[in-house]
Amino acid sequence: MGSLIDTAGALSGTAPLVVAMDGPSGTGKSSVSRKLATRLEASYLDTGAMYRVATLRVLRSGVDLDDAAAIAVAVKELPITIGTDPSHEVILLDGEDVSSEIRGNAVTKAVSAVSAVSEVRDQLVAMQRDLTAAKGRIVVEGRDIGTVVLRDADVKIYLTASAEARATRRNVQNIAEGRGDDFEAVLADVQRRDTLDSTRKVSPLRPAQDAVLVDTSELNMDEVIDELYRVVRQQISAGGSQ
Ligand code: C5P
Repeated sequence: MGSLIDTAGALSGTAPLVVAMDGPSGTGKSSVSRKLATRLEASYLDTGAMYRVATLRVLRSGVDLDDAAAIAVAVKELPITIGTDPSHEVILLDGEDVSSEIRGNAVTKAVSAVSAVSEVRDQLVAMQRDLTAAKGRIVVEGRDIGTVVLRDADVKIYLTASAEARATRRNVQNIAEGRGDDFEAVLADVQRRDTLDSTRKVSPLRPAQDAVLVDTSELNMDEVIDELYRVVRQQISAGGSQ
């Protein structure tokens, strides 16, 4: 893997490189992963968006969220198109642009229930592996990328931040996007989803043993990107010298 670093010490722009980026919501994971992908000249895959599209499909089909078997049927043939260009988001459900609708409250509330269904996970994980193999050089963002989806990823990063710091960021984002200002409700939702995601039976949220933990509570976006780039370089160098 040493060949990934050129003589000037930068990460060369074409060699295969798979970066798994996990962590709870509100760590700035999506923006950070996108920017890191751009800096690495890599593709980018937002697996959370895939679970959100599956959830939208379930909500539209009117299925009871307690009925795992019906959820599995509703998403069995999911006509999803997900782009991998970090500078241009493409998320289609049956050809319809749903990139905005999947971020709304209805989907956000239901997504933990849908993503806990093992058939849903099996199906989406298979797609995620195929997309990663097809791209070769990619930052893949989610909750279980380093632990389940891509256990052989070249670099595994687990982003963390305090619940308060995460809720503050999400609330600021909500205000900016016209979804209102309610810090307490956002904090409660962050904590609720943390609990659901980390205690579910299938692929609970936890850092991979070989992941590098990066706490973003006190860092701004540029500082996080610099730190992640440093971690990627360091991990690749360490891998090359083994
Ligand atoms: O990252 P985002 O907040 O968009 O993810 C939405 C939800 O999708 C998470 O709360 C989690 O329930 C689920 N998810 C998952 N596994 C992933 C990515 C997301 O279970 N790899």
